[in-house]
Amino acid sequence: MAVPFRRTSKTRKRMRRAHQKVAVPGMVECEQCGEQKLSHRVCRNCGSYKGETVVEK
Ligand SMILES: [Zn+2]
Repeated sequence: MAVPFRRTSKTRKRMRRAHQKVAVPGMVECEQCGEQKLSHRVCRNCGSYKGETVVEK
């Protein structure tokens, strides 16, 4: 198995990790209840989409 020739420096490690970030899906505020919801999805809180109640609770 291949073994790293050199120890990865703190800077190199941090530079590499600077590109890794948690992907946050497109969150928007619900126009019905103001709760955070995924865009182009029915609101999880009030079940509305485009200002209309689609899913009853
Ligand atoms: Zn809502």
